[in-house]
Amino acid sequence: MDYSETPETTQLRDMLRRFVEKEMPREAAARWDSDNAFPREVFDRLASLGVMGLTVPEEYGGAGRDIVSTMIVIEELSRRSLAVSVPYIMAACYAGMNLVEFGSEEQKRELLPRVAQGTLMFAYGLTEPDVGADLASVKTRAQRVGDRVVVNGAKRFCSGAGICDYIFTLVRSGDEQDRYRNLSVVLIAPDAPGVSITPINSMGMKGAATTDVTFDNVEIPASQIFGGDAGWHQGWNMLIGSGLDVEKLEVAAVATGVATAALEDAWTYAHERKQFNKLIGEYQSIRHKLADMKTQLHAAKLMLYHAAGMANRHQRCAVETSMTKLFAAEAAKAIALECQTIHGAYGYVKEVAVERYVRDALLIPIMGGSSAIQRNNIYKWTEAGL
Ligand SMILES: Cc1cc2nc3c(=O)[nH]c(=O)nc-3n(C[C@H](O)[C@H](O)[C@H](O)COP(=O)(O)OP(=O)(O)OC[C@H]3O[C@@H](n4cnc5c(N)ncnc54)[C@H](O)[C@@H]3O)c2cc1C
Repeated sequence: MDYSETPETTQLRDMLRRFVEKEMPREAAARWDSDNAFPREVFDRLASLGVMGLTVPEEYGGAGRDIVSTMIVIEELSRRSLAVSVPYIMAACYAGMNLVEFGSEEQKRELLPRVAQGTLMFAYGLTEPDVGADLASVKTRAQRVGDRVVVNGAKRFCSGAGICDYIFTLVRSGDEQDRYRNLSVVLIAPDAPGVSITPINSMGMKGAATTDVTFDNVEIPASQIFGGDAGWHQGWNMLIGSGLDVEKLEVAAVATGVATAALEDAWTYAHERKQFNKLIGEYQSIRHKLADMKTQLHAAKLMLYHAAGMANRHQRCAVETSMTKLFAAEAAKAIALECQTIHGAYGYVKEVAVERYVRDALLIPIMGGSSAIQRNNIYKWTEAGL
């Protein structure tokens, strides 16, 4: 098995690196973090590179479904700032991937060209105040009334609700007894009457601010049932469909991006900072830390691009993507914390980027299915022969 880059992926990575250096300087990344701001003008310039359409088939105006390339974009953007990489995921993956997999033909024709142009973003409205890992127990209700759907309930930690075009909202569309069957996904515009959005002051992942969202008798046309009429009561299948495998990889790509940035900064610092008349990078204990982190990161990247290759080829990869999410997330957390240690006291102050990498990295094992949930699934699905 060979996971080395092709001339095309190297070209894409180089293009992204040039974009990041020019359009996303370090000072700007620090400012987006402290202001919890989404730099839409940078996002628009990113769209002009043509990378939004990497998840969209050519017949709908995209570049073709290419999961490996999508991961390269997420990784390179995350290496500088989640304020751009998370909105990219909201566009190319939350909107693009889900529409390709489960949108009705009408929704694909209307919305996929907008994904490719960079003018459509979905926020995920899955989690609720009483619902975390156990998503099948959502309480937000949707009722069909003629050609309308009425939604009541509340979502929590809905990131990017304030900047998205639609909240991809998991709702209970029938009897609670039949918990896996009676779920649907509906698309709700954040400015629809009856929608209220309140920011949550979270530790990291600034830019696509996370929020509480309430729906008070929100009425939407039935055409906003995801998947059209055929999608009603199909929410669970949409959630556990192959889109979920790619979703785990998106988080893993954020992890390798953040960890790469942290390690690069720590490596540089070790060659700048002197104590006891020696560069700290001359001490074996620091060199071993750097070597261990480089090894961990290399392993995480191999897992990421191996699993992304499988997803590209539509191979079954539920176990591989869970192992990748678990390993990359825990590696990123460990690497960010170790890099902070190498920076000593300076790793603890806002002006030094590693402080942000730590805050961002601490989220990665929590979101997109926690490490415990990945472990449960790796065991369960392996036993089941998947
Ligand atoms: C900054 C931020 C942004 C987020 N963005 C979004 C978003 O955009 N959209 C969205 O829908 N959600 C989002 N989330 C929510 C996130 O996906 C959830 O936090 C996550 O799914 C876990 O849910 P929970 O925190 O309620 O934990 P719980 O499910 O309540 O779990 C609590 C603890 O118990 C463990 N646990 C739970 N069940 C089991 C089990 N069966 N076996 C072993 N251990 C278990 C968990 O691993 C965890 O350690 C975000 C969260 C944060 C912090």
